[in-house]
This record gives sequence, C-alpha cells and structure tokens, in this order.
Amino acid sequence: MIRFKQVSKTYGENLALRQVNFEIKQGEFVYLIGPSGAGKSTIIKLLTREELATSGQVIIGNTDLSKLKDQHVYKLRRQLGIVNQQDVFLENRTVKENYQAVLGATGVAETEWLAKIKRTLDLVGLAAYLDAYPRQLSVGQKKRVAIGRAMLNRPKILLADEPTANLDPKTAIDIMRLFFRINRQQTTVLMATHDSTIVNTFMRRVLELEEGKLIRDQAAGNYNVFG
Ligand code: ADP
Ligand code: ADP
Repeated sequence: MIRFKQVSKTYGENLALRQVNFEIKQGEFVYLIGPSGAGKSTIIKLLTREELATSGQVIIGNTDLSKLKDQHVYKLRRQLGIVNQQDVFLENRTVKENYQAVLGATGVAETEWLAKIKRTLDLVGLAAYLDAYPRQLSVGQKKRVAIGRAMLNRPKILLADEPTANLDPKTAIDIMRLFFRINRQQTTVLMATHDSTIVNTFMRRVLELEEGKLIRDQAAGNYNVFG
C-alpha cells in the first residue's frame, strides 16, 4: 500500500532523508519516531506530495508519486486523511460548516454532506457538536473534530503528525483509542510522534529515524530499545 524504495530527500544543502526503505501494508498501524529534525515531517510531506523525493521511489497503491501529474494530485489527496500538529479551523463556522467546506472542496455532492458529517461525528464521538463553534470545544474535542475532518471521505490512509502533543495523559489515551477504532476499520494509520508513553503503552510497529536514516523497523516496538 505504501512503499519507500531507496528514498533520499535534500532541501538545498540539507540531507533530510537518506536511502530510506520500508513498506506498510493496508490496515497497519505504524508509529514514526525520532528526534526533531530526523525526517518525520519529510516522510509525511512526500506521501502527500507536498514534496518530491530527490531520488528513489515513493509509491502509494500502484502510483509512483514522482510520476503523478500535478492535475491528478487531488486524487491522491482524496485517499489520504491528514491530521496536522496544529488544528486549524474556520473559527466563525460551526463544526458542520467546517466539514462542509472540506466536502465542497473535495467535490462531494451536496446531497451526501449531512449523512457523511453525521456518520463522521458518530465515529469521533461528537454527535452532539454539529452546531458547536471551535472555541466552544476543549483541546481534546478539537483534536477529535480534526481527526473527523480527515476521515470525512473515508481515506485508506490516515497520516497524523504529533496528535497527542499538548494533550493531558487521559485525553491522549482517548485520542489513541479513536485512532485504533479507525484502524480496525481497515484504515492504515501512520503517526509521527515524540510521545514515548503512548508508544510504550500501546505497542505497535515502530519506524525510527535518526538524521534522515531509518535505524529501526520493529513490530510492537518500544520508544527506546534500551529504555
Ligand atoms: P522532523 O519532522 O523529524 O522534525 P523534518 O522532516 O521536519 O524532521 O526535517 C528533516 C531535516 O530537513 C531537518 O534537518 C530540517 O531542518 C530539514 N528541513 C525540513 N524542511 C526543510 C525545508 N523546507 N528547507 C530546508 N530544510 C528543511
Ligand atoms: P516538526 O519538527 O514538527 O517538523 P519543524 O519546526 O521542524 O517542525 O518544522 C516546521 C516547518 O518548517 C516544516 O514545514 C519544515 O519542513 C520546515 N523546516 C524545517 N526546517 C527547515 C529549514 N531548515 N529551512 C526551512 N524550512 C524548514
């Protein structure tokens, strides 16, 4: 489903990824770990085609992203759900209206909007918040709304960048339960994180980067091998 073959990425002089190889199967849950600057965001940006690999191949399904024409990038993005580190919403719009903006932008017929929105709010446990404004939500609820927004079109792959940063431990655990619920429905989840407690509590496959190199690919790994 996702394949990196000898992928290197440079930004000018900066070598961000060095000959990275891995494969992720449909339905897997994978943590992407490593210190700041290790290359985690670069991997996510290569998958969304915000960036192109300098060499090697990034493949999603049957598509080599370096060969994907710009006018077809929207088809790739429809298969991806993205949860950024910062949850940015239209602040003067309700949850429903925020979701409508995404459905409109991705070309979903208006007759399907309300059903998709309700189904998604059920998934993230916020059925009662259809008409709430972002400012009325707690940090954890905002994160749920953001995860729902990423799931509106039921993507095959969910990419999440540090989704438990800034959450208290109990809320972080609730958010992880939501990711696992999504993952059980066959969505592949790739989660970049620094949260060692979460990685060590909910052990899953770990891809570890250090200075752009993939130094570990381990099933049910700890945050620190010797930790
Ligand atoms: P992480 O997400 O693990 O913190 P990044 O993928 O953001 O790591 O960064 C990997 C390396 O690439 C770092 O050295 C970073 O400074 C560099 N880098 C990332 N984006 C850019 C950019 N747009 N221009 C120049 N260097 C960049
Ligand atoms: P993170 O660790 O979450 O990736 P960063 O602060 O490293 O956050 O990066 C934030 C943004 O800045 C990213 O989009 C990254 O690509 C970009 N960036 C990182 N390093 C550089 C750099 N040296 N030059 C230009 N942009 C960079």
